[in-house]
Amino acid sequence: MNRAETLDGLRQSPKVDVCVIGGGINGISVFRELALQGLSVLLVEKHDYCSGASSALSRMVHGGLRYLENGEFKLVQESLAERDRLLTNAPHYVAPLPTTVPVFGLFSGLGNSVVRFFGLTRRPSRRGAVAIKMGLGIYDFLTRKRAMMPRHQFRGKRMTLAKWPALNTDIMSSATYFDAWVSHPERLGIELLDDGLFASGMARALNYAEISPDGAGAFVVHDTIDGSSVVVKPKLIINATGGWIDITNSKLFSPQARPQSLMGGTKGSHLVIDNAALYDALADHMIYYENEDGRICILFPYLGKVLVGSTDIRVSDPDTARCETDERDYILQSLAFVLPGIEIRPEEISFQFSGVRPLPVSTDSFTGRIPRDHFCTVIESEAEGQPAVVCMIGGKWTTFRSFGELAADLALERLQKRRAVSTTERPIGGGRRFPLDRAAWIAKVANEKGISAVRLAELFARYGTQAEAIADFIVAAPDTQLPHPAYSARELLFLIRNEAAERLDDVLLRRTTLAITGDLSLEMMDAVLLLLAAEKSWTPAQQLAERSRFLILLRERHGVDEQALFERNERRSMKCETTAKSG
Ligand SMILES: Cc1cc2nc3c(=O)[nH]c(=O)nc-3n(C[C@H](O)[C@H](O)[C@H](O)COP(=O)(O)OP(=O)(O)OC[C@H]3O[C@@H](n4cnc5c(N)ncnc54)[C@H](O)[C@@H]3O)c2cc1C
Repeated sequence: MNRAETLDGLRQSPKVDVCVIGGGINGISVFRELALQGLSVLLVEKHDYCSGASSALSRMVHGGLRYLENGEFKLVQESLAERDRLLTNAPHYVAPLPTTVPVFGLFSGLGNSVVRFFGLTRRPSRRGAVAIKMGLGIYDFLTRKRAMMPRHQFRGKRMTLAKWPALNTDIMSSATYFDAWVSHPERLGIELLDDGLFASGMARALNYAEISPDGAGAFVVHDTIDGSSVVVKPKLIINATGGWIDITNSKLFSPQARPQSLMGGTKGSHLVIDNAALYDALADHMIYYENEDGRICILFPYLGKVLVGSTDIRVSDPDTARCETDERDYILQSLAFVLPGIEIRPEEISFQFSGVRPLPVSTDSFTGRIPRDHFCTVIESEAEGQPAVVCMIGGKWTTFRSFGELAADLALERLQKRRAVSTTERPIGGGRRFPLDRAAWIAKVANEKGISAVRLAELFARYGTQAEAIADFIVAAPDTQLPHPAYSARELLFLIRNEAAERLDDVLLRRTTLAITGDLSLEMMDAVLLLLAAEKSWTPAQQLAERSRFLILLRERHGVDEQALFERNERRSMKCETTAKSG
């Protein structure tokens, strides 16, 4: 269903069971749950899908070792169960991640964890070997029945430095355990959305759209792409706008009926670093380390680069969140503490990003101690015949399925409907019919489609088994190479046509990993602009406006300026020349 069909469908039948506001991973998850139960459900996202916190995560799919210190055992247990489900349901994007914790003392942090557990202090402190051992023991215990990954193991100082010679030599030992990571979280969101859309003709979704009460008991959906509007009449609203939840409620309710503040979001920023010595120093592990102030930071190999983060700072307006200079300095200083010999030059920071954790409102002076659990609160309707609003509060990326399930069950109960389908074992997108023997699958499909095995392997790495549908589309018409050797015009055309991509950033930041991995050059940006312009029938003036809007966004939000993109053109041409000469 395209945008125009979605809006026409709503014009013909404005009554919907549920309207979900917010197309981050949690909003998409509850949308999919409800669509699978056969409800008529509408999702409205004001920007692009997964463009808020759901694109700013540390990309860990994890139980949350440090939440044990806060006594959040239930959350850790649930998160570990969801992590293991994702390893099975989305194996194309979620994979095991060996994680190593450098340990600097024996007993430090132990007493503090105990008093913290009993609520006597909230102050973070260094964690010693015994505290870490206890945490990892609980991790192993909670996953003992599924045992999908190896148990934790300790290494002494000599063995640790033999494997990671660049680590701070003040360490006493290290502990290695397994968690998981997600390579393309924004793409997984799109696949989840598609699962909902394909499940039922009564499920509809719009990005770049806003919703507000019309003052007469109904709601108006405003399409910010073409400026048109449509009236809808939902029986129930789900506010899944994460860090924006209070701002959204202030638009849904009159000042007299407005609920108390629910959100106490904190901003977190990350850097993506292109430095071979740093990459090699990790030896394919995540380093999960404490900075000198006791805050946990992470460092891990991400699609050929290194992801480092993060910060934890209270903010009130998520729209203003960006990585500030002092946050960059903090992250680089933490890196210099754990891997002291590795020097990072400013130009090696190839991308940065920031987002707001949708945490419940809290007066805790230490942001790291705010509970990470999720729950729903229902705000009853202001007037007879008006829909109640279910607010989804909190929630990690890892637990999107169980949180979506919780909110959907609440909606089903209120609408007196029954759950028909469970999502616990439901594969997602390119994780469907996932082959045990990947190489054999790639060879077979490449042969069937008449496409090279190398090209099909690239598609498989990016889309899992959906590579097959994309290969079908690619071979259906003449294709052209783009200024990036691993992408072609028809591959991106497929994403633009089938994945609701409306803007340059949708394609370059979220449907692909081109920007985050530092693979985006000025030439590539302009090539994608031409593809989009042809698809959307943009005038030359619209193209120019989109180009400069995107360049501002890239500079202000992601620390990448036009000069850096231009230099990537140059580097690419030099590489091509060298390859041609050596060939
Ligand atoms: C720095 C950082 C690191 C993190 N690391 C991890 C991690 O490693 N692992 C993990 O499991 N979790 C992690 N998280 C948490 C995780 O990213 C979030 O909990 C999760 O993505 C929240 O999803 P959401 O859908 O609730 O919110 P969001 O993704 O923020 O979605 C809310 C959406 O609502 C939209 N919206 C707002 N107002 C309106 C409106 N009026 N109308 C329509 N739409 C609206 C926004 O545009 C946005 O897309 C991290 C978070 C941060 C910030």
